[in-house]
Amino acid sequence: MEISIARSRLEEMRADLDRTVSVLMGEHHLVRGGGADPGDAGSNLTEADRNAASVQTALTQRAEVLAALARIDDGSYGRCVDCSSPVPEPRLEARPATARCVPCQAKRDRRRY
Ligand SMILES: [Zn+2]
Repeated sequence: MEISIARSRLEEMRADLDRTVSVLMGEHHLVRGGGADPGDAGSNLTEADRNAASVQTALTQRAEVLAALARIDDGSYGRCVDCSSPVPEPRLEARPATARCVPCQAKRDRRRY
């Protein structure tokens, strides 16, 4: 993938995530006014909990996107941050913010659990 294309896709993602976060933050205040969805009555999570989780996810993704943009700037974009081998093109196409090759990501995921 061309670096310029990667950069514009990442900048779009960052803009989307910024919008998502501000919408979710905005909803957080509206939700307190009631109007709960009766279909959600059985859920253990309150609307606010779900909202906070969504904000957290968006902020995590945003951090990944910002890190990928920083790697474009320092010239290391497209290489695995752990082993420095090139990240396969299809993987970058699918997830432009990805920081690791498949084996390193798998190792990291295993370590986490
Ligand atoms: Zn690797």
